[in-house]
Amino acid sequence: MKKDIKNFVFQELREYLLRRGFLSRCADQIFNWVYKRRLEDFRLMTNISKRDRAALEKEFYFSALKLLKKEVSHDGTKKFLFGLADGYSIETVLIPEGRRFTLCISTQVGCKFRCEFCLSGRPGFRRNLTICEIINQYLGVLDLIRPKKITNVVFMGIGEPLDNFSNTIGAIKIFLHRQAIHLGKRKICISTCGLPPRIEELNRLNLGVRLSVSLHSADDGIRSKIMPVNKKYPLTELLGAVRSFSKQQLLPVTLEYVLLKGLNTGPSAAVKLKKRLAGINYKLNIIPYNRVSSVYQPPSQEEVSRFISELKKRKVFFTLRKPRGQDINAACGQLRAQTP
Ligand code: SAH
Repeated sequence: MKKDIKNFVFQELREYLLRRGFLSRCADQIFNWVYKRRLEDFRLMTNISKRDRAALEKEFYFSALKLLKKEVSHDGTKKFLFGLADGYSIETVLIPEGRRFTLCISTQVGCKFRCEFCLSGRPGFRRNLTICEIINQYLGVLDLIRPKKITNVVFMGIGEPLDNFSNTIGAIKIFLHRQAIHLGKRKICISTCGLPPRIEELNRLNLGVRLSVSLHSADDGIRSKIMPVNKKYPLTELLGAVRSFSKQQLLPVTLEYVLLKGLNTGPSAAVKLKKRLAGINYKLNIIPYNRVSSVYQPPSQEEVSRFISELKKRKVFFTLRKPRGQDINAACGQLRAQTP
């Protein structure tokens, strides 16, 4: 059976091709054509011999996602609904910010973790995305916006990237590879709901990519209530892994903190943050809750200001994130997988 060429990381493709008798430079040439020059037809890869081109065509195929819908927010954010070969669909979001174009990509159809404030896990978990389905979100959007470039990639779409570890890492290797997409390592950010063993594994790989952790509370009781994953991996374990990661990678870890009315915005929340985050190199990113159901409410402007002054008083450093793409349901927590 033919193989999808975009499922191969460079090293694997090289070894695979060598075993089949191709020249050692063939993997370089293919990567260059596909990722740098955006050509998906072996017949046109003119620096490869005709015989090899024919052999490659028998061996591999090029997959593409089907663009089912594109929506544009009044703030310029674009949301793409992509259909997968088996009928599922996923969403990808492009967020322009000055000269920066950040692509927010999905890693799973659905999600297992069932955070109470997030829609992405609602239909339940269906399956992991393959390497090429992750990469094709990038290539699909790039082909639509060229000559504009995507400058940053964040794994913050549907799914839990560290729960689809090997395909997420495979995709990152293609994003980073010199002959492929060649993004800077600091331009890539993985976001997790908090899986300490996987954070440690990521740390050991030393890829240099950024890490973002969805914290949302520094109190185990509250966090377990809104994020069931906290029952398995409570804060001590999670923050231990975060501390090691930031130390070894010499990088601040972003801690996402969604403000939920009356739940995690009081003075005691600020005190606990200060205590729990001591000794960690972090950036706290506070985000007003995007309403996705009636269980939680966004905080009032006044509640946000009060929390901010509590944080300032205690020297907990933070940035306030502006919600983007809310009017087209493209903001955090609003993305969903569609099942046939
Ligand atoms: N599973 C990963 C990747 C998803 S990132 C993770 O949990 O980090 C999506 C981000 O949006 C997470 O930080 C998540 O906590 C946040 N989020 C989810 N629902 C939200 C909502 N309704 N309002 C604001 N942010 C939300």
